Amino acid sequence: MAKYDYDLFTIGAGSGGVRASRVAASHGAKVAVAEEYRVGGTCVIRGCVPKKLLVYGAHFAEDLKDAKRFGWDVPDRCDFSWATLRDNVFEEVDRINSVYRETLTNHGAEIIDERAEVVGPHEVKLASGKTVTAKYILIATGATPHVPQCPGHELGITSNEAFHLDDVPKRILIAGAGYIANEFAGIFNEFGSTVTLINRTDVILRNYDHQIRDRLLQISMMKGIDFKFHAEFRGIEKTKNGCLSVSMTGHEDVEVDCVMFATGRVPNTGRLGLDKAGVTVDDKGAVVVDDWSKTDVDSIYAIGDVTNRMQLTPIAIREGQAFADTVFNDDPHQVDYENVPAAVFSHPPIAGVGMTESKAKETLGSVKVYTSDFRPMKNVLANRNERGLYKMICDGENGKIVGLHMIGPEAPEILQAAAVAVKAGLTKQAFDDTVALHPSMAEELVLMK
Ligand code: NDP
Repeated sequence: MAKYDYDLFTIGAGSGGVRASRVAASHGAKVAVAEEYRVGGTCVIRGCVPKKLLVYGAHFAEDLKDAKRFGWDVPDRCDFSWATLRDNVFEEVDRINSVYRETLTNHGAEIIDERAEVVGPHEVKLASGKTVTAKYILIATGATPHVPQCPGHELGITSNEAFHLDDVPKRILIAGAGYIANEFAGIFNEFGSTVTLINRTDVILRNYDHQIRDRLLQISMMKGIDFKFHAEFRGIEKTKNGCLSVSMTGHEDVEVDCVMFATGRVPNTGRLGLDKAGVTVDDKGAVVVDDWSKTDVDSIYAIGDVTNRMQLTPIAIREGQAFADTVFNDDPHQVDYENVPAAVFSHPPIAGVGMTESKAKETLGSVKVYTSDFRPMKNVLANRNERGLYKMICDGENGKIVGLHMIGPEAPEILQAAAVAVKAGLTKQAFDDTVALHPSMAEELVLMK
């Protein structure tokens, strides 16, 4: 008789948990996955996927305007139905949710639609009261939006609720200036909302290259987004007319119809029973793991946002794959966190890989920076005064590219391919030796001065 009910019990069926469970099952492990909400996690249900679809939807606002300059007879006023887009996005989310469920069951993993809590190194208790045992337990419970506890904070929403709104708010205030704030500021602005973005400092997208984020700030302001910096939330009050009045330090109160918090995400470790099992959690609530994603309890591992290493879907997927191959296929490997490309799906989008100029200057003896500051051909004909900016950061000693940063239409699509070159350790000379593909925006990559 088997010593445990399962070889692997995964808590959380997001991107990382699904990958780890599916791969472990394909390696022959008996696997169960507990999920209290919906299979797919943040990325599929209330993050990357629905957000990207909203970004596509929002971009039509500009495309329809630009189309006139390209000879199309587009009426001055085009009606937009939020309900149509929202419901179509939900349909797509439902479809992917079913695909994820099938992926698990087709590989023999059992899905348990219940909350689960760790009660020992090999024991998990389900919400229904049943206790099951497993040789290994994997914590893959992701993260949840952080909401500053100011008076009236419960009147605000987070990105979780943004997808479910009844209508596009006429006026929205977004707190935070990171990924989610800038992406949703762009989305709502294109849908016609009056958008105010407030942040406690005067830095947007802190980890991106300063020139690239300055360009986004400048373009976003030109598009009508109002930025208020050094503004700490004091509170939200409901007014007599049913609106929300937001008070903050350093600025006048602002009256809006919706307040959205985008002030970071915190690991989902509450009520998981980790302390009972002896799993260490850091001061931010993240599960502490080693390079193998192992906690300080030998039978318990953790992957993805709950470990707060790099809150990105492809990283959670890689951590899940590495865990399953290492533990269930005798194929030990670790995730490489160097030169991970990332993007902000703002309007226009940003993409980057490797060191920013300031990081390179802090780290290396000598640094060379090459740039291309250009107006995409399509923007010229459309009379759209938006310039793209590409930046290549090289090690001054050997010409090796240590960072590549872009803002402009399709920047994430272009950067993914260029990131291969950065990861492969190529030099500026390799880009110079490559003939430009004309006319394209991507050709600026091989024409930087
Ligand atoms: P970010 O970490 O990107 O930005 C958080 C913002 O909130 C910053 O402007 C920060 O200010 C501010 N902030 C942080 N804590 C507080 C606080 N206590 N009170 C007031 N303001 C605060 O977080 P997001 O919520 O935008 O996104 C969470 C994570 O999800 C990202 O870090 C990213 O890893 C991931 N994500 C990735 C996406 C992508 O790949 N395209 C899209 C969306 C999310 P300051 O910096 O000035 O201190």
